[in-house]
Amino acid sequence: MGIKVNNRKAGEDQFDRAANLIGLNDDIRDSLKMPDRELMVEVPLRKDDGTIHSFRGYRVQHNNSRGPFKGGIRFHHEVDLDEVRALASLMTWKTALVDIPYGGGKGGITVNPHELSERELERLSRRFFRAIDPIIGVNIDIPAPDVNTNAQIMAWFMDEYGLLHGHTPGIVTGKPIDLGGSLGREAATGKGVAITTRESANRYGLDLEGAAVVIQGFGNVGSYAGKFLSEMGCKVIGVSDVHGGLREPDGFDVPSLFDYNYKNRTIKDCGQGTPITNEELLGIECDFLIPAALGGVIHKMNAEELKCKIVIEAANGPTTPPADELLHNKGIHVVPDILTNAGGVTVSYFEWVQNLQQFQWDEDEVNEKLEKRMVRAFKEVSSVCDEKKTSMRMAAFTVAIDRVAQSFELRGI
Ligand code: NAD
Repeated sequence: MGIKVNNRKAGEDQFDRAANLIGLNDDIRDSLKMPDRELMVEVPLRKDDGTIHSFRGYRVQHNNSRGPFKGGIRFHHEVDLDEVRALASLMTWKTALVDIPYGGGKGGITVNPHELSERELERLSRRFFRAIDPIIGVNIDIPAPDVNTNAQIMAWFMDEYGLLHGHTPGIVTGKPIDLGGSLGREAATGKGVAITTRESANRYGLDLEGAAVVIQGFGNVGSYAGKFLSEMGCKVIGVSDVHGGLREPDGFDVPSLFDYNYKNRTIKDCGQGTPITNEELLGIECDFLIPAALGGVIHKMNAEELKCKIVIEAANGPTTPPADELLHNKGIHVVPDILTNAGGVTVSYFEWVQNLQQFQWDEDEVNEKLEKRMVRAFKEVSSVCDEKKTSMRMAAFTVAIDRVAQSFELRGI
């Protein structure tokens, strides 16, 4: 979909602009930019037909000034070290922004998991976890799901870790409920996106009731965001996934679309809407455009075509820096990823806390705590935004960088 983005440069550019705004001194700036540790591993896989294929895997630990490294593991054929680095640093800022006691990390394997059988996927996942075992730990680095990884894969990770170190549910989050996962975790990122959209409507004076929403990427995050937003009264008029998009000007029947997608893992042939391309989807006139697939989908070649009022960045890094500037000039507000999609890591933190306490909270308690954290972070970002007369993205980065820099200084080196 998007153009190939230099993720590291995009991330550093945002960091530098925010660091300038708070006058961060140069030596701390350099340290906060540089990842603490980067591990690149070979992940050999014996395929069902007996042949051996080797894949490249990564774990990047960006910064742990505020607590253990935390971040997902992505299985995708476009994963590379630069992308994992950029995503790891985003996690540092995201965890600081919602004020949870974690740092940032990220991992991945360069693989198309859809080309593997279930048994091959399990062998690959276990082998990868063994390969990164030397640098993870329940108080060191706690992985979680990301694109193309899920609760089942977290269960295999937990089991593999347990074989080496004894039963340790807190080693990963996003696990199945039966193995110590948190109630509310699966829906948490999408719920956070919906909360952020609601708060953005309030901030920018839009009526949520009947507001037109377009969602690119109807996976875990996009589908739950759509579900909660339709429950809040929004009209979802465009959706897409890797196979293409659908448009329904009168609004989709979201509960049945959600159920269809949950069962079939695609919206293709769902019997609703008319087909459009992913590119056409981005140009639909709407109140909220929610990119919830991969990075770099809104770029300088298509930003001019957008006809939304607000971009709610559910995916990580969906808007390139040049596109960000173009949108700003067009008067389109962008609510940044590190704020919008922080609901997932927030409930991951709750899951880890429950695992450490060997206790389970009920779903209402989880959702209530999530709501409080998301609203608090949104308000903090909004007030910095107004005070410094800057964008929501720069405001979010300054709040986060400030917190990490303070912990870094307090710890000393
Ligand atoms: P997912 O694998 O469940 O869903 C991804 C969706 O995007 C699928 O519907 C897929 O078909 C679609 N997609 C893939 N390529 C596409 C393309 N070229 N065009 C249009 N759609 C395409 O992944 P997810 O967990 O929902 O993650 C989505 C985004 O949200 C990622 O950027 C991820 O890093 C970010 N995120 C996820 C979480 C989480 O808790 N899952 C938390 C924070 C951020």
